This record gives sequence, C-alpha cells and structure tokens, in this order.
Amino acid sequence: METGYLCRTLSAVTFFCLIADMHASVPPLETRRLDLLQRLAAVRKVDLLVVGGGATGLGLALDAALRGLSVVLLEAHDFAKGTSSRATKLVHGGVRYLAQGNVSLVREALHERRKLLHNAAHLAGPLAFVMPSYKCWETPFYGVGLKAYDALAGQAGLGSTELLSARQALACLPGVRAEGLKGGVKYWDGQFDDARLALALARSAADQGALLINYCPVVGLVHRNGRVVGVRYHASGADTEGQIEARCVVNATGVWVDSLRKQDDTASGRSAEAMVTPSQGVHVVVDRDFLPGDHALLVPRTRDGRVLFAVPWLGKLILGTTDTLCDHINEEPRPLAGEVRFILGEAANYLARAPRPEDVRSLWAGLRPLVKPPRNAGDTKKINREHTIVISPSGLVTVTGGKWTTYRAMAEDVLARCTDAGLLERLPPCETADFLLVGASAGQQPKVSLAAAPGIHNYGSEGGWVMKLPGADHEIAPGLSEAMLRFAVRHEYACTVEDVLARRSRLLFLDAAQAASVAPAVAGIVHQETGRDPELDSFLTLAAQYRHVPW
Ligand SMILES: Cc1cc2nc3c(=O)[nH]c(=O)nc-3n(C[C@H](O)[C@H](O)[C@H](O)COP(=O)(O)OP(=O)(O)OC[C@H]3O[C@@H](n4cnc5c(N)ncnc54)[C@H](O)[C@@H]3O)c2cc1C
Repeated sequence: METGYLCRTLSAVTFFCLIADMHASVPPLETRRLDLLQRLAAVRKVDLLVVGGGATGLGLALDAALRGLSVVLLEAHDFAKGTSSRATKLVHGGVRYLAQGNVSLVREALHERRKLLHNAAHLAGPLAFVMPSYKCWETPFYGVGLKAYDALAGQAGLGSTELLSARQALACLPGVRAEGLKGGVKYWDGQFDDARLALALARSAADQGALLINYCPVVGLVHRNGRVVGVRYHASGADTEGQIEARCVVNATGVWVDSLRKQDDTASGRSAEAMVTPSQGVHVVVDRDFLPGDHALLVPRTRDGRVLFAVPWLGKLILGTTDTLCDHINEEPRPLAGEVRFILGEAANYLARAPRPEDVRSLWAGLRPLVKPPRNAGDTKKINREHTIVISPSGLVTVTGGKWTTYRAMAEDVLARCTDAGLLERLPPCETADFLLVGASAGQQPKVSLAAAPGIHNYGSEGGWVMKLPGADHEIAPGLSEAMLRFAVRHEYACTVEDVLARRSRLLFLDAAQAASVAPAVAGIVHQETGRDPELDSFLTLAAQYRHVPW
C-alpha cells in the first residue's frame, strides 16, 4: 500500500499508532559485553570521545551521533551510577530558581521540560504539586509567583496554577496536616525515572551508531604537540587497556571533572584550580500511605530556607532533599544523621502522620556538580546552577553543572562550542528537539503515571519485546519479572546485580530490604545470562547501606 494512500485514509491518530508500532517492531539492539569490547578494541580514531555516562555525556553522545559524527562514550562504572540516578526525579523549571530571580534558567528549563515529556513519554509525565498554606498571606503570595511560572512556560505549560481552599487542598493531599490549613496553591511540573532515561539515551545513541561502554574508565589523556588527541582506557571484564584518538574529547564526568582537568594541566605544565564544589543532597523513601493521592507536596520554605518535596514515585513517596557542602567525593555518598533528621523533621511539620526512622524503606545521597563560587562564598544554595563549558588551552572540553531537565540543551550548547573552537567541523542542525527515545511512541501520553508502582508499562513500545523473553510470567518482585532481568542484560548493558536492581529496576531506591531479599534470585539469572560473577556480595553490602538510617 502506498504511503500517500495511507496518509489520506487513516486518521492522524491511527497513523501515529502505526509509526509507533513500526518503531516497536525494530528489535532492540544487543548489548552483550564481549561484543562491545571487541568493537571497542577495533576503534582507532573517532570524531568525538565522551568521558562519563551520566545525563550530560549521554545526551551529548546522542546529539552528536544524530548529526553523523562517529562517537565513543566511556563510563567508569555503570551508566547513571553517579549523580544521574539520584535526582529528586523532577522535570522542572525550578520554582526556587524563580524565587532567586534566575528567569533565563527557569524559562529554558520549562521549554526543555516539554520536550522531554514528549520525547520519552513512557519515562516522564506531568505531575500536579500542591503548596499547602498555613498562613493567610501564603496562598496569594505563592499564587502570584506560580502564575509567573505559568507565564514563563507559555505554550510549553502543562496546566494552569490554581488557588485552593483548605478543603480543596486537603482533597488533593489527603495525608497533609489539616489543623490550621488555610488553603493552597496547585501548579504543574513533570517527573521521570532518571536512571531509565539515562539508559534510553544510551540505547538511542547506540541505535544511531555510537559505541557506548560501561565499566570502562578513562585512565589518562593522550597529548601530542600540546593538544589533547585521545584517551587511554581500562576495560574491566576483558581486563584490557587501550587507546583511542579523537578530534574532540569531552570531559562530562560530573563531580569528577577536576580529576581529568588536573591530568590535562599537569601534562601541559599548568596548574588548575578546582572547578566543582560538590554539594550533597539526600532523599528518604517511605510508603505512599504517608501521602496518598496523586499530587506531590511542596514545602516552599524550610528552616534553612530551601524547598522540600514529598513526591509520589513508582509506588512510594520520596522526601527530600538537602544541600550540604562536601569536601570528599564518594561514589556512594553517605547520608548524614543531621540530613535525615532534617528531612523527617520538616516532613513531620506538614504530614498528619510523622514518618519515623523505622518507616524509612531506602535512603540515598547524590552529589551536585556545582560550579565553584569565588573563594569563601560559602552557601551552596547561591552557587551557579547553570551549566558551564570550559575549553582548556590543549583543547580538552569540560562541561558540568546544569540539571537533568536541561541535558538536551546542554548537549546542543557543547557541540556549538566545539564547532566554534574549531575542534569539530561545521555540523548539520541539531535533531534532538523532537527525537523520540527508545521505547517512546509518537503522540503517546503516559497511560500509567510515574507515581504508580513499576511494571511493564515503563518499557513503553518495547514492552512486547520484554514479554517475548523467557520468564515473562515469573515475578521476582512486584513489577519485576525474570524476563525484565534478561532484557536488562541482553539489551540494557546490565552486568551485575546492582545494575539490575538499582538502575534497570529501581527496587534498591524504593525498598532496600526487598531488593536484598530478591538479590540471590537476580544473581542467578544475571549469571546465567552473562556467565560472569554478578557481584552479589557487594550488592548486599550496598543494600545494607541504603537501609541503614543514621540517627
Ligand atoms: C540530590 C539531587 C537532586 C537532583 N534533582 C534533580 C531534579 O529533580 N531534576 C533535575 O533536572 N536535576 C536534578 N538534579 C541534577 C542532576 O541530577 C544533575 O545535574 C545530573 O545528573 C548531572 O549529570 P552528569 O552527567 O553531569 O553527572 P553524573 O551523572 O555524575 O555522570 C558523570 C559520570 O562520569 C563518570 N566518570 C567519572 N570519572 C570517569 C572516568 N575517568 N572515566 C569514565 N567515566 C567517568 C561517573 O562514573 C559518572 O557516571 C539533582 C541533583 C542532585 C544531587
């Protein structure tokens, strides 16, 4: 049948469904580690070498691959193991940045929010927030601010801000403290699954020809005539070292950027000041019955002048976060007792039933790569949260800062800077604005909200492929089947129990005790699929950390 005939006779909706089905009928790429390592060993030179597989690096790899560049991305651990799996899971303009008067940052993020919700509708969706008021002036005061937020979003808005009576606020937030409640303000933002979005980016970039490898740290830069011309890597699993030359090397290593910058400077006989100040943010997860319903709660001003969120996510409730300067960068940062006390204490002021330490199902910390303030500036809430791109005299491009919501715009910006600096030749226009990520279908709205318990719906148009694998009916944990584990290893780069239970499934982040209890079964299947040690013991140690509530 001719395409023209189809277009004339089918309704727009049917046509979109057809495209979606065609998308889904392309089998997912295999990500078997030995095949990837063989391909890596054969690479001599590429256009773009990206170091770091978080939101920033993965977004860049996809943008560059779509423009026809040859791309290799190397990640030291697993994709999104760093900050990019530890966000509050909001796709947002940033209400508090608006309060700080950072209008351009908020406007850009609001427009990116819209694109993300369109391009990955199976992993990101709109979410209504309510700010409860306990003082008469709060509803009109915050209402005006949030109307401005709507105005900045313009056509990219997700819904109108509404001023609520006390009764309406309570209906939206059934678990909130009713005593003294005067009203509230309801506004719209988005939420997403950060680690699964990272994987969708990695897999989409791979579909476009990029080669992406996890567990492959860059261990050194290669310089020639004072210029960075490539990197040296160590690939675990095969235990091999190798070298790749690149026209352009981008350091997208988040809070770790200063380590590569230092190597670059040392090799070039310069001394560099550190660029990043890490700031720790902690989240605490409790059961949904502390705040039933489908609205998130925003506390506009905590004791330390921050905002606090209570966000329904994948069947649980996330409370957070904090902003604590750190002088040490740890792969698995540990929540501090003071941070947990702060979160539970602030939540107790607003929830009818105060969450106690024994109610905590999981807790985790992430490090914000904040671009360093001038000496002695102190307070991290005032540090620049926009992204920063620096090109060293030897041509090493470093990008850091920003937020998950704006990863796509950051990538576009990096490529423009690389072109302006002559590191890359003139490129075709950026194609990521409307590019559907793996698993997304055109015109698709999320049928099941991200607030609901996880399940096959999180795979979007790829659900059918998962269901074809052995063990589709064998449930390992609620919403996690044996087939999903096999899919994680075969198509989503998973190598270990942690990869599966922390970032393909999010069980470790939702309920660490349950994650530990199913880990041996998961290890058995991962071992069957890979033939390698699935690192069960180290996962059990990690799960104990996510369960331990410092108090
Ligand atoms: C507590 C908290 C809450 C947040 N909430 C939100 C939110 O709700 N919404 C939002 O939009 N943003 C949020 N953010 C911000 C967002 O998460 C970050 O801006 C983003 O994840 C940073 O991504 P990245 O790729 O720059 O860094 P990372 O995700 O840390 O990625 C860097 C990667 O580089 C790798 N790496 C390091 N050294 C090497 C090497 N030598 N070789 C190879 N790889 C290497 C690391 O292993 C890591 O995976 C939050 C951040 C925090 C900390």
